[in-house]
Amino acid sequence: MYHYEGTYAAGTWVPGEASRIDVHSPATDELLGSVTDASAADVAVAVAAARTALDDAAWAGLTPAERGAALGRLADGIERRTEELAALLSAEVGSPLRWARFAQIGTTVGVLRTYAKLAEEHTFEEVRRSAMGGEVLVRQVPVGVVGAIIPWNAPLFIAALKVGPALAAGCTVVLKPSPEAPLAVCALAAIAEEAGLPPGVLNIVPGGVATGEALVAAPGVDKISFTGSTAAGKRIGAACAADVRRCSLELGGKSAAILLDDLELDRRTVSSIVSGVMANSGQVCVAQTRLLIPGSRYDEIVGVLAEAVDSLVVGDPAEEETQVGPVISAHARDRILAQVGGAVEDGARVVAGGSPYAIGAGSYVRPTLLADVDNAMSIAREELFGPVGVAIRYEDEAEAVAIANDSPYGLAGAVWSADAERAAEVALRLRVGSVAVNSSAPLDFGSPFGGFKQSGIGREGGPEGLAAFLEPQTIIR
Ligand code: NAD
Repeated sequence: MYHYEGTYAAGTWVPGEASRIDVHSPATDELLGSVTDASAADVAVAVAAARTALDDAAWAGLTPAERGAALGRLADGIERRTEELAALLSAEVGSPLRWARFAQIGTTVGVLRTYAKLAEEHTFEEVRRSAMGGEVLVRQVPVGVVGAIIPWNAPLFIAALKVGPALAAGCTVVLKPSPEAPLAVCALAAIAEEAGLPPGVLNIVPGGVATGEALVAAPGVDKISFTGSTAAGKRIGAACAADVRRCSLELGGKSAAILLDDLELDRRTVSSIVSGVMANSGQVCVAQTRLLIPGSRYDEIVGVLAEAVDSLVVGDPAEEETQVGPVISAHARDRILAQVGGAVEDGARVVAGGSPYAIGAGSYVRPTLLADVDNAMSIAREELFGPVGVAIRYEDEAEAVAIANDSPYGLAGAVWSADAERAAEVALRLRVGSVAVNSSAPLDFGSPFGGFKQSGIGREGGPEGLAAFLEPQTIIR
């Protein structure tokens, strides 16, 4: 059992509101632990700790290389606990254990190490020749106290995409995990202490929407860095705009994988395309759930994909052989199945799955593939966040690109072909933040990641992700 009392502020767990959040396993409904549902007063304590730490010599006096070293130690501490944290994330999120080790923990360590290095290499000060004669000093100073709000699907990885660059920049952070999966994030507190982060540099406020709203409204917060749904992002963006508070938004997606007509359906390719839809039960922001399939090979490709989807091992996420675990809650399961039912009413055809999967008290949805889907149907436009792919027919490359781009979202995509050059050419025509060629992983820690259109504002990853936590300042001399 993991029980965390209060909010983590200035290096200690400060007792807070009596109100608590119980955390249950989506696989068994078993109680895993609990956290405090932090109030506005609790949030204010954490923000005050972050403000004090921001200017304290113990943090502000460190060189960028020393901040990078601290991030490196944080990465080491997480890596040393890979088995424990992967098991905890597998329990609270429902991620298959094997996937959790590399996609939840390995990625977290990779992001922190990337920013440990960038802290050392980045140019934080530069003397330039003035356009008006003389010279100017251009500095990159920390944006200040960062309120980081994260979702439940990849809590440590998404926290690292914010904490890594924020700390590399010299900011301090108040981190708010989601109420569904706050336990691994709370475990970060002890790891940060062990890594020698000065008190107040990383603070944690567990809680729900009201806690997040209090953090967004807290006067001591200079920047909100949010990852979550587009609906919540719109509200947070509007609240930040009212105070001209800096804000970056990493939101939802409805990404497309374009399968070109020369594609060879070898085992590796098919399994990678399917994992692009089904990884973490489809609860991944970059899930490529719209599969665009050439009309000339539609039935053949749909048949092969349906067979691969049907053969996925669904079950207890703690088992090594499990490929697809539960979805996050019974509510999510019912919503996903209702949306699949709605698609069938709209004319879609179930070629794999399409039903709940009864394993004890778990919230399972059978991995599902729908054929004969038109891109105008709700199932092709709305983010489902579940193990459901839709097969959409196209007649030529121009139509494939037009369908892929016809979405309110623009987060990511993939293009598959026997000819990688041809796929890379098609990738250039997609209006999305990142595209994978012959792979289902459109993400690289050292490169910018984020959304076009309603998938967000701003970028995480690489130097662009660091710039998001820096304010340029010009000294004319
Ligand atoms: P969510 O928007 O419901 O919640 C995300 C976080 O925001 C939670 O901590 C929640 O408590 C908090 N929150 C919600 N409303 C708020 C408000 N008005 N003010 C302040 N805080 C608020 O999302 P979720 O269900 O936890 O996560 C799933 C969503 O996250 C999906 O839409 C997915 O695409 C998105 N996501 C995006 C990325 C990305 O990088 N673009 C990555 C992962 C997940």
